[in-house]
Order: sequence, then structure tokens, then C-alpha cells
Amino acid sequence: MTSSEIRRHFLDFFRSKQHLIVPSAPLVAKNDPTLMFNNSGMAQFKDFFLGNGTPPAKRVADTQKCLRVSGKHNDLEDVGFDTYHHTMFEMLGNWSFGDYFKKEALHWSWELLTEVYKLPKDRIYVSVFKGDEKDNVPFDQESWDLWKEIIGDESRIILGNKKDNFWEMGDTGPCGPCSEIHIDLRSEDDVAQKPGKELVNADHPQVVEIWNNVFMQFNRKADGSLEELPARHVDTGMGFERLCMAIQGKQSNYDTDVFSGTIRVIEELSGKKYTGSMEKQDVAMRVIADHIRAVSFAIADGLVPSNAKAGYVIRRILRRAIRYGYSYLNLMEPFMTKLVPTLAMQFADVFPELNAQRDFVATVIREEEIAFLRTLGTGLGRLDQIIGQLTTDGKKEIPGETVFELNDTFGFPADLTALIAREKGLSIDETGFQKALQEQKARSRKDAQASAGDWIELAELDNKVEFVGYDQPDSYAQIV
Ligand code: ATP
Ligand code: MG
Ligand code: MG
Ligand code: MG
Repeated sequence: MTSSEIRRHFLDFFRSKQHLIVPSAPLVAKNDPTLMFNNSGMAQFKDFFLGNGTPPAKRVADTQKCLRVSGKHNDLEDVGFDTYHHTMFEMLGNWSFGDYFKKEALHWSWELLTEVYKLPKDRIYVSVFKGDEKDNVPFDQESWDLWKEIIGDESRIILGNKKDNFWEMGDTGPCGPCSEIHIDLRSEDDVAQKPGKELVNADHPQVVEIWNNVFMQFNRKADGSLEELPARHVDTGMGFERLCMAIQGKQSNYDTDVFSGTIRVIEELSGKKYTGSMEKQDVAMRVIADHIRAVSFAIADGLVPSNAKAGYVIRRILRRAIRYGYSYLNLMEPFMTKLVPTLAMQFADVFPELNAQRDFVATVIREEEIAFLRTLGTGLGRLDQIIGQLTTDGKKEIPGETVFELNDTFGFPADLTALIAREKGLSIDETGFQKALQEQKARSRKDAQASAGDWIELAELDNKVEFVGYDQPDSYAQIV
């Protein structure tokens, strides 16, 4: 099954269960002061769960473009080093706004995975919230009973804690248990060695979480007590690229047809072969294949790389990819821009916004590459020198002043310096860096607007994950 077919089957399946299929909201969160990027399928529906506004239908499904590079969900550091966390990914989801609840949701998820996608039943594990007395939340008996009835085998059900199996919007507000679905993709031999059950939620690359079913059934009041919500909701999210890995029988998301086209172009441009290893060269190819999606789709959704907020996050992601190509694949000329056409073609049906703006996206990326490549080589040379000196002196940390200088003179975002430092066993003085930024701000108000102010604002935003209310989300005018 190709990835396009896999996506289509998901939407068709929920359409057949009377769901309205709606478009993805843009990658860049609009009208939401708590969120820079859409990081889950439910983000565009938050209002409805709070009882504000009316959903377009009681049952809705879609594929949502998500970006997890800031705030509560930040997977950036894992990307390239593991095979199943991306910056940008698609989250397939189905929702019930005060309509069906656990019974239908769990039955349908099992039906879709085992009958439509034909995933092997004996490789699937499900988790159920075990309750938390201290926090006043009960064991999810209902989901346990349902799974027992659906699967008919208790040994495939796992009890999970609050961290993995309880969802809350904030300190107060809607919350409830969730039930996750995990799949064991290891070889028969490995399975015989160790039961998959013991590897669930253990960051094993072949025993991965694919789907989360969240059941909003409580409202947490200010005094910490729970009351039943008058209308109960279902919110589910399934990682599309991971699902493709499972269905296509691959060991890594990057081996599926979601990424293979882009990786082929990277191979052509670099003259090197992708072997799926943990070696730097392969890490670099994964980072590039991942980051080009985040950057291209963000630009297509109206965001340009800049020195401010969300624009700066995109610039940092792009520079991170450029540096990987430069250092490990010998790519000294703009190359990210050359990956855009393949991506645009691949997603022309499902996310036509990229194909419609492919030339613009490619141009923005090329300009960024030219500008950064101009100073990258000199900056890397300088950083090498600094690291060499520090190592000779027996020091383990790059001073904040130096991190600042690299940022100011060579356009190295602090996280890029940190990444390069880490490769050499060093860290950066983050506090000193912030201080240097502040000092510059004091010296020159004008200069500060481009770096210090933006960085501080970003750091503050990053810490803000609590829900505080927002305006109406985007309209559903365009129903696909
Ligand atoms: P994980 O534990 O693997 O980090 P999660 O529990 O943070 O995943 P959820 O917030 O439950 O993920 O999101 C729903 C689904 O989205 C997950 O079951 C997974 O399949 C997928 N997903 C989450 N984060 C990523 C990511 N960074 N890249 C690709 N898919 C992801
Ligand atoms: Mg996660
Ligand atoms: Mg998880
Ligand atoms: Mg989860």
C-alpha cells in the first residue's frame, strides 16, 4: 500500500462512519496566543471542547500538518538520531464532539488497523490509564473492558501512568484518560527473546506508539476536584509516517515512500548512498529529508524565515539542515532549494498549497542558503578553533560571550552552536548567552530588536504551554 493509499483509506474509513472530512489547519497557529505552531490535530478544535463555538459536524476527521519544535512538544533534538520523530509530520485524526465515545472509538481503531490495514493482531499492544489516587483520577475500567472484549486477550493490554495515559488541557479545564496503540515491528527472533509488552513506551525504535485515543470526560475545577463533563468528546491522533512504516513493513519512517523520493534526490546531489545507519552521513540525510518538509510547508503556509518568533524557528531549522549537509555530505552550494519540486509533486493532491507556491518557496530557501553559506565556513572554522583551545585548557563549556559572537557575526543560532559543541563533548553557557544578548540590548536599542528582543520573546513563548483562551479558529469553508 502506498502512503497516498494509506491516507485515503483512513479518510474513507471515517467518512463511512459518518465523519465530515475537513482540511488541515495551517502549520502556523493563527489566533492562538498559547501556540506558535499547530502541534496536534486537536489544536484547531480547542474551542469546541470548551463549549465555545459550534463544530462543523459532530463527527470530524482529517490529516493535520503538525510541527513539534517548540514549547511542550519539542522533538527537534531527536530528529535524525531516531527513525520515528519528525519536526513536521501528519497526524491523522477523528473527533467526536459530544457524540460517540469510547466504545465506537476503540472498536473503529481496531477495525481500521486490523481489517483495512491488515496489521497483525499479535503485534499490537494497547494501553489503558491505571488511575492516580493522589491526583483524584480513577482507573479507566471502561476502556479496559472494551479492549478485553475487542481483542479477547488481556495480555495485550497495558496499564499506563498519568504521564502517558492522561490528558489535560491545563491546570483546570477538560481532561480525561487516553488509550494508546503501540506496534511491535521487530523480527520473530527478537520477539522470542523479549516480549514486546516490556518495550512499550521505552523508546525502542521498533516498538512504537502509533495512535492515541483521548477521551475528554472530566472538567478539573480550580480546587483540583473533577466533575463529569455534560458533553463527552473523543480526540484521536495517529502518526501517519509511523503508520506507513508499520504497513509497509519497514524499520524506519525514512524507508517508507513518504521520504524515499527526497532521500533519492539528496543521494544524487551529494553523490553518497543512504544506508540507514547511525553514522553522521545518514543522520545528515535524515535531518535534511525531515527539515525540508518543515521549512517548505511553513513557508507555503505564509511564514518566512526571519529573526522574529516563528520565523526565527524556521530559520534555525533551515540553518541546522544546511550545516548538516555542509559538514557531513560536502554540500557547499545551495541544495535545500533543490528538494522543493519533489516534495511539491508528492503532496500536490493532499496539500496543494506547496505545489501552488513551489517557485516562491524554492526562492526563499535559496536566498537563505546563499546568505548563510556565505558565513558558515568561516564560522565553523572559528568555532573549531575555539573548541580546540577550550579542550586544550580542559574546559567543557563554550562561554556565553562566544556563543553570542557566533550568533552575531556568523548567524549561528545558539542551538546550532550547542549541537556542534555537543558533537565534541562540550556544552554552551546558555545563561551567559542570554546575558550577552541583554547587554547588547542595553547598548543599542535598534540592534536589539533583531536579536535580543526576539530571542527573549521566543524563550518566554516556549515556556508558555498553558491554555488561556483564543479567538475563533479558521473556518471550514473548504471541505475536501
Ligand atoms: P511519542 O511518545 O512517540 O513522542 P507522543 O505521545 O508525544 O509520541 P501524541 O501527542 O500522543 O504523541 O501524538 C499522537 C501521535 O502522533 C503519536 O501516537 C505518534 O504516532 C505521532 N507523533 C507524535 N510525535 C511525533 C513526531 N515528532 N513525529 C512523528 N509522529 C509523531
Ligand atoms: Mg512525544
Ligand atoms: Mg507517547
Ligand atoms: Mg501519546
